[in-house]
Amino acid sequence: MKTCFLTFCTLLISLISVGSIHAQPSIVVKGTYDQKEILNQALHYAEILGLDKKTHIIISFTHNINPVNLGYTQYQSEEVLGGWHQIYIRINKRKRRSVQMITLAHEMVHAQQFVMGKLKLCNNDQYSWRGSQCTDLRNTAYHERPWEREAQATSVKLYDQYKTYNLMAMRSRRNDP
Ligand SMILES: [Zn+2]
Repeated sequence: MKTCFLTFCTLLISLISVGSIHAQPSIVVKGTYDQKEILNQALHYAEILGLDKKTHIIISFTHNINPVNLGYTQYQSEEVLGGWHQIYIRINKRKRRSVQMITLAHEMVHAQQFVMGKLKLCNNDQYSWRGSQCTDLRNTAYHERPWEREAQATSVKLYDQYKTYNLMAMRSRRNDP
């Protein structure tokens, strides 16, 4: 019981420190050995994608996911949450680490699509893209879905950009006196 309480406090403090001092979203990372690195990566993507402090993101690395899925994103709309956007990202831990990293970038693009209202869940298995009519997912192949095309193209760029940014940051740290 005490442990739960402590864990909750730690979570709360990290939410406050990440979320409210800067205009960044609050991001919680679970189920991975390098939480700080993943948090940095997700914050980097969030900044480029224009996600701000009104967005809460929980990123879980897990085995508890359909083995064929690389990852997925769920969204709770702001009306329900009084102006907040809640995003749940799950990443398949069975995949290679580099695949998990690209999947994170991919799912962050979906987060942005939901938050900006480009992608909307109408009801079970029906989505609307950029205000178009709701269509059943089963009528469109995965690679034909416009939000998947966008996430695919953008995630590769985001990941490459992050690697360059990280390398430069490492070099400048090494050059510090
Ligand atoms: Zn996708």
